[in-house]
This record gives sequence, C-alpha cells and structure tokens, in this order.
Amino acid sequence: MTFSAKRNAILDKAQFIVSALSGNKKLNYVNVSATLQAMTDIHTSRILVTDTDARCIYDSQNESVKKGPYVFFPEITEALEGNDAVYVRWNEEQIITRAAIPIVSFNRTIGAVYLVERDPVQAALISDIQRTIHGISFGMELLVILFSILFSILFSRRMGKLVDSVQKMHGGDYSVRLSERGRDEVARLSIAFNHLGQRLHQSEEVRKQFVSNASHELKTPLASIKLLTDSILQNDMDRATMREFVADVGDEAERLNRISQKLLELTRLDNQPAEERRPVAVTPVADRVLRRLTPVARKNNVRLELDAAEDATILATEDDLYQILFNLAENGIKYNTDKGSVTVRIHSVSENVIISVEDTGVGIPDAEKPHVFERFYRVDKARSRKAGGAGLGLSIVSDMVARNDGSISVTDGAQGGSCFRLSFPSYQQSEEASS
Ligand code: ADP
Repeated sequence: MTFSAKRNAILDKAQFIVSALSGNKKLNYVNVSATLQAMTDIHTSRILVTDTDARCIYDSQNESVKKGPYVFFPEITEALEGNDAVYVRWNEEQIITRAAIPIVSFNRTIGAVYLVERDPVQAALISDIQRTIHGISFGMELLVILFSILFSILFSRRMGKLVDSVQKMHGGDYSVRLSERGRDEVARLSIAFNHLGQRLHQSEEVRKQFVSNASHELKTPLASIKLLTDSILQNDMDRATMREFVADVGDEAERLNRISQKLLELTRLDNQPAEERRPVAVTPVADRVLRRLTPVARKNNVRLELDAAEDATILATEDDLYQILFNLAENGIKYNTDKGSVTVRIHSVSENVIISVEDTGVGIPDAEKPHVFERFYRVDKARSRKAGGAGLGLSIVSDMVARNDGSISVTDGAQGGSCFRLSFPSYQQSEEASS
C-alpha cells in the first residue's frame, strides 16, 4: 500500500468513528467507549478521543482513563482547530500513520478523534527493497569503477603506443604504423599519424632518390674530367691532342655548371615563395626567348617561328614565364632533326591563354609522356646527355607552371615531334580595376 493510500485509509476510519460519535451533544467516557466497543471491525493500533480542551476521554491503549490528561499531539491540536491532520512516518521497523480529525456535532466541534496505525510488515518489505536497491547500486558503482580503471588502462596503453611511435618516427623510422581500429579520437589520431608517416616516408624516399640522382649526374662529368686530366699528365701527347683534351675538360666543366645551376633552381623553387605576380604580356616574352635561342637554332639548322595572333596577358612572374618558354623551346631545338622547326603559338580560348611549343623533332613515345616532368627523367639517355641535359628542365617547367596557376600537358606534334601545351587563366583589365 502506498503512503497516500495509507493516508486515505486512516482518514476513512477516523471519519467512520466521527460519524458514529457526532450524534452526541457532548462526549464522555461512557458514550464514547460504548460507541467504540460496538465498532469491532475498526482495526488500528490506537484510538484516542479528546474533548475540545484536548483532554483525553478515551484511549484504547489505556482504557482505565476516564477523564485523562491533556494530549497536545500536533495532529490533535490541528484537528481541534477544525482541520484534518495526517502524518506518515517510516523507520526501519515500522510505518507509523497518525491521523486526527475534528468531531463536529450540530456545527460545533465537540472533540477530536486520533488514530495511530503501525505496519511492521510493509516496513520490512520497504527495508528489503531498499537493501536490494543499495546492493544493486553498490554493484553498479563497483562496475563503473572497474570499467573506468579498465578503460583508463586501455587508454593509457594506446596513448603509450602512440607516444612510442612518435618517438620512433622522430628517430627516423617512418615505417611505424598504428592500429586504426575503433571510431574514437585515438583511432582518428592513429589514422592521421599513419598518413603523416606515409607522407614522410614518401618524401624521404623522394629526397634519397633526388640525392642519389644528383650525385650520379655530378659524378659522370667529374669522372670524365679525372680521366682526361690523368691522360694529359701520364701520356706524352702532342700539343694538338692535349688542346683537344683540355677543351673536353672545359665542356665537362660547362656541363657541371649547367647541372648545378638547375639543381639550385629546383631548390630555390622548393624553398622560396614565388615572387609577386604581375600582369605579363606573353608575346614580348616569347619573342625575347626566341631571339636569345636563335644562335643555337641556327647551329642545329632548326627554324624558329612565333605565331601570336593576339596580345594575351596573364598574371605571372615574368622571370618564371621566360624560363618556362626558354626550357621548352630549347628542348624543341635539342630534340629536333636537321631542317626541323620549333613554333610557339599564343592565343586565347574562353578565359584562358593557351601557349603551345611545337617541334618537328624525334617526339616522345606515349608510354614515356607521363614521366617527362619527373626529376632526372630522360627518355633517350644517350641523346639527352649528349645534348647536355640532366633530365631537370621539364621538372623545373612543371613546378613554375604550377606556382603561376597554370597547367601543362604534352601530346604528339601535328607533323611528328612533340607539342607542349600550357594554359594560364587570362588576365582581364577589369581585374586590375576591381583590385
Ligand atoms: P633534359 O635536360 O634531359 O632535356 P628535360 O627535363 O628537359 O631534361 O626533359 C626530359 C626528357 O624528355 C629529355 O631527356 C628528353 O628525352 C625528353 N624531351 C623533352 N623535350 C622533348 C622534345 N621537345 N622532344 C623530344 N623529347 C623531349
């Protein structure tokens, strides 16, 4: 039974007694005890009836009381003021319910009925439930603590692994990888760590490859110089042969100079931010490049042509544009045939300026085309070396094109040979006005 049901039940009983007593004009021990003894079906621990002065008239716990002492229980006081008072209290052994209500006869309060009920059975039940709940919550707390300990052990173990791996990577071991299982923050951190490891591993590989290629490129002319000077020193040679050998040493030194200049250029591209880009008219730059290359073209019996129908302007670093066109046109001459030609065309297509450098030379096989922009990549090694190349020119071009917001591709030329096609966003006058 709930506490409010207990309240209602005790009030019903009190009301029942009051209705039996309210027929009396005045209460005394005789009429009260007679009425109550007739009510055999009221089961309570105590029934107490008082007069209007709170003096006990009848007490089921002490039936000898006739005109007993004053009983100023709070419930009785409240009932004598005209209100119903109920109070339920629960302790380990029992639930005690107390109620007092006024006895009204002919609209006049003539006393109060006070009832007490004790329920040890339900109290034991509640205590039982309480103990069970305490047991369960203790168990839960224990579980939570155990889980927290387990979780923190697992977490710190995973963090420990992460820290170990970071230290290993710091020591140069880029092959370490972490388990990516799970969806929590540690798993995300592990994924990011693995990506970082992969990137570092790749760039380390590229760096090693670059260093090994660069030393190889430098080693070859140095070995030739050593061979040539040894021969000059050891052999008793005539003056003409000696001059020839010394001239060869000069050529090799020139080659070394070219390679180191290109290596420096690549390092500069990697490390330095691009100079500020300005609007550059493409045709005058292309014209300067071709004029500068005219002596080389003449020596190789190659014709140079510029086909610039309109004046196109792009936003770029002028030195970069010069170097890009120079490398492409120089390659067009180097990998050409006798009486061949190199044509530079400049025109606009929608919002872009397209520059093509087309030659009638040896061409590039399809399988090699995707690789020609890689560092140190050479299609025909013997020919390239003979022409003084180290496989770096096009990689410089590709880096410079990218940092000027352009793109580059290579296809076959219309009359054999190759065609390098550059595309840059064209610069509109309005951009200047709005900026
Ligand atoms: P290199 O300094 O050896 O010329 P590049 O990076 O400029 O190096 O070019 C890479 C390779 O691509 C060259 O070795 C050459 O085999 C090939 N190549 C470049 N341009 C041309 C071209 N216009 N025609 C044919 N082959 C070319």
